[in-house]
Amino acid sequence: MAEEFDYVIVGAGSAGCVLANRLTACGKYRVCLLEAGPPDWNPMIHIPAGFIRTLVNPNVNWMYEAEASAGTNGRTIPTPRGKVIGGSSSINGLIFNRGQRMDFDVWAQKGNRGWSYDDVLPYFRRYESHDDSADASYRGQTGEMRITDLAWRDPLCEAFIKGAESIGIPRNPDYNGAIQEGTSYVQRTSTGKLRMSAARAFLNPAKKRGNLHIITNAHATRILLDGKRAVGVAYHRGGASGKPQEVHARREVIVSGGTINSPQLLQLSGIGPAKLLGDLGIEVRHDLAGVGENLRDHYGTRLTARAKNVRTINELARGPRLVGEIAKYFLGRRSILELGPTLVYCFWHSDETVRNSDLQISFTPASYKEGMQAWLDDEPGFTLASWQQRPESLGYVRARSADPFAKPVIQPNYLAHEEDQRVLLAGIKLSRKLMHTAALAPFFAYEAYPGQNVQSDDELLDVARQRSTTVYHLMGTCRMGPATDPTAVVDDQLRVHGMENLRVIDASIMPTMLSANLNAGVLMIAEKGSDMVLGHPPLAAAS
Ligand SMILES: Cc1cc2nc3c(=O)[nH]c(=O)nc-3n(C[C@H](O)[C@H](O)[C@H](O)COP(=O)(O)OP(=O)(O)OC[C@H]3O[C@@H](n4cnc5c(N)ncnc54)[C@H](O)[C@@H]3O)c2cc1C
Repeated sequence: MAEEFDYVIVGAGSAGCVLANRLTACGKYRVCLLEAGPPDWNPMIHIPAGFIRTLVNPNVNWMYEAEASAGTNGRTIPTPRGKVIGGSSSINGLIFNRGQRMDFDVWAQKGNRGWSYDDVLPYFRRYESHDDSADASYRGQTGEMRITDLAWRDPLCEAFIKGAESIGIPRNPDYNGAIQEGTSYVQRTSTGKLRMSAARAFLNPAKKRGNLHIITNAHATRILLDGKRAVGVAYHRGGASGKPQEVHARREVIVSGGTINSPQLLQLSGIGPAKLLGDLGIEVRHDLAGVGENLRDHYGTRLTARAKNVRTINELARGPRLVGEIAKYFLGRRSILELGPTLVYCFWHSDETVRNSDLQISFTPASYKEGMQAWLDDEPGFTLASWQQRPESLGYVRARSADPFAKPVIQPNYLAHEEDQRVLLAGIKLSRKLMHTAALAPFFAYEAYPGQNVQSDDELLDVARQRSTTVYHLMGTCRMGPATDPTAVVDDQLRVHGMENLRVIDASIMPTMLSANLNAGVLMIAEKGSDMVLGHPPLAAAS
């Protein structure tokens, strides 16, 4: 007989860990958390620089590939997603970035009551613990998620920031405060030395509660339905060859499998576009056109410079110097092992007349072979990566077959929309300008990629198509919106339209892209979603 719980959560990622904590806190409900991946025992998860290894490790990563398109010049794009306790928060770049006021106000304008910036700000504040010096009207200081400002300083980063100032881009002490624009050292989900995944922050403290049951290596294959009511989840323990099992939910099934897996699981369960399900031979239980549609992602173009007169991470991450860095890390001294992939952020705009903060540029005193973050260059170098903050191009995630273990089709349609081409082109040009400032000149040997011979707009856009990669911010495939919106999958309480006892709570519900890396936003969605599940009144809006 299948075990019964009050709530069954699919996926122990950013959202799932918050939910598991909040739903078990009062002790009234029994919660089962199913996670397809293993426990988070791999040390590369916890050491910030381990990012570079988990990015290509199939033991903790779904290792998806996005389909080729004209915007990728026919390339498929490696698309990592965490498959481990903590989900993508266990393998991400540790950046903490909430986005802009306007992002959430647009969500509310689209008919999602309770999702304006003033409505969601108290939830951002509730889960974070940031430096005491920060403005408390924007920042939280008592939550479980530790946020630290990067303490690392080096001559290249300082020169980059000074160079930005020289062309009119000011320093910003807190891009998660009143305004986002300007340059800043990054804020991170980290204690400084260790990653703060959602698991470390939210799941570990809840593990000792007797009412939380976590099952790892449990791949959910189908939502069990009684008519239009979700009553449980079917899963395989130990992958495709594992034994099929079931777990039942008295109150609700909550799908938190992330932007790729949540729509795939709904589709496999017969909830999705009838035509797609019919083509796959899946019985239609509920025709819902938006499931898997509206995929968006950030698509970043990296420009690389060869450096001189300075030591970059490239040299420190090799041979005897690396041994020294490892020793320093474990002795508690400053070490490159405490660094993630990005050190400085620059938020700016593509058009002086509009000034709508649509560009994000990152700076790193390291460079990568062929632009792939998993492989550092042999020569000293630094990188500027830029992307359009709120892309218009829309793609999709569709089950490839009725087999729950087959990887779904992921098509982000990068650069399909002309506006995305225009903004990215502006970003590449601004990156180049920032690379050539007087402040950086003492450390700048030459432009390694794309190189000074590439100049025209057409040539630069070709560079974007040939070398850009995902910035790992896929969202939108179970979009939140009112029932009158034919593309919506969940309502503003995160309940699946037309179904009972079924919610989706993760990055897939975002109606439009945040001007941000997404982890902070997902934690907020789960924090707010937990109050909805528990029937608590929402926190009072910020004034
Ligand atoms: C490499 C990388 C770098 C990133 N860098 C940053 C960054 O620096 N800053 C930032 O803010 N954001 C970053 N992001 C994005 C951010 O981490 C994600 O948007 C966020 O973690 C998504 O949270 P989620 O809860 O929607 O999904 P996830 O955290 O991906 O969680 C989904 C969980 O569900 C599990 N699951 C899926 N399907 C099933 C199933 N069928 N059965 C059981 N379990 C299942 C998965 O294994 C996973 O653990 C990055 C992402 C990646 C992949």
